Amino acid sequence: MRRVLHPALAAALTACSLALALAPAQAVPRPAGPSGPGIRTEQREVFAPDGAIRTVRVPRPAQAAPDARSRATAAAAVVEPVEVNGPSGSKVDLVFVGDGYTSAQLDTYRSHVRSKVAELFAVEPFKSYRTMFNIWQVNVVSRESGVDDDPTPGVRRDTALDMNYYCGGTARLLCVNEAKAAQYAAQAPQADQVVALANSSTYGGAGGTAATAAGGNAQAGQIVVHELGHSLGGLADEYDSPGRYQGSEPPEPNVSVYPQATMAAYRLKWYRWLGQPTPDGGTVGTYEGAKYAAQGIYRPSQNSIMRTLGREYNAPGREAMIAAFYRKAGVAAVSTEGRVGGRVLQVVPQRPDGSRLSVTWQVDGRPYAHEGERLDVSSIPAALLAGAGPHRVTATVSDPTPWVRDPALRAALRHTFAWQVAPGER
Ligand SMILES: [Zn+2]
Repeated sequence: MRRVLHPALAAALTACSLALALAPAQAVPRPAGPSGPGIRTEQREVFAPDGAIRTVRVPRPAQAAPDARSRATAAAAVVEPVEVNGPSGSKVDLVFVGDGYTSAQLDTYRSHVRSKVAELFAVEPFKSYRTMFNIWQVNVVSRESGVDDDPTPGVRRDTALDMNYYCGGTARLLCVNEAKAAQYAAQAPQADQVVALANSSTYGGAGGTAATAAGGNAQAGQIVVHELGHSLGGLADEYDSPGRYQGSEPPEPNVSVYPQATMAAYRLKWYRWLGQPTPDGGTVGTYEGAKYAAQGIYRPSQNSIMRTLGREYNAPGREAMIAAFYRKAGVAAVSTEGRVGGRVLQVVPQRPDGSRLSVTWQVDGRPYAHEGERLDVSSIPAALLAGAGPHRVTATVSDPTPWVRDPALRAALRHTFAWQVAPGER
């Protein structure tokens, strides 16, 4: 679903003065190889224990094709359901893989996964929309306990996913062999996001195709919350670095080159939220500094999770996340869409906490005041039917949450299911 480099960082890569300032070239190890000075690098996010985020450049690892032995190992891994709320096609699937857990340490792995899950679902909108997720853990077994370069560089351990601290020379940057992580994660149903946990209590993590976090560190799960903002919500980073933003209006919903007056006048980006309270504190406005530049670009709130770990999403960010959940999972499942499934038509809506989905029925284009998620076609009043048939019955399911305002996003929170009912069926 994602490249190694998420779009926000890829965009920043074109203006690489920032990254060079953060990571002097001499600090980056240069692996020997025929490519020599043309070595490819990529940006990674580094997270500090106080929540501050910055980016560094690290060498792009050579991802050799997995050998037969590692394929055999991957095939043997057990997939354990942590929390299953429905079929994967109608849920967002989070898949954990672990590194540096021996076969005797699977209980430790289990408890690390559960603590990260608890941390993620303490944050809105994950908290209210928890039942839209399935969570799986792949029990990846390593020969040795712990990961490389922990607690100090040079410590080596033989582990399944080759995770290491000091990635690219940065202490808290926790990297993983993405190919191996993906190989294990592929054993769980439809991974929408992979999270690789290291068997360590040393604070650390990274973004990427697989987000990484220290399994035994109580704050490291915040990294997962932030990374899901990118991978699911398409949100930009809201932290900044010295310098002026030089690009045009970015595509992400939570950053803009337009200050408040312009945004309001031309109805741009998060204009619907301007002046409203935001879950991360204060009111929504245009705060200068975002997307790796201190000037010339704005964020919606003072300090959201896309700027500092441990915070809430701001209102526009939360809105984007909820829409993303529905785009992946849908508003409802039906077993009989488009045809008659016996004589009872049924929708099975998502069930977020505190935001019951509405179901409205129509028959031949006319509203039918029928309560509920099941409709027995024989109960439809004859007065509603237009002509001899066949008749068209629809059920529109929608989430009325006030947390999503943008009509373009609200479209993801609503769907109309339709059935044809033949004259003889009622
Ligand atoms: Zn980020």
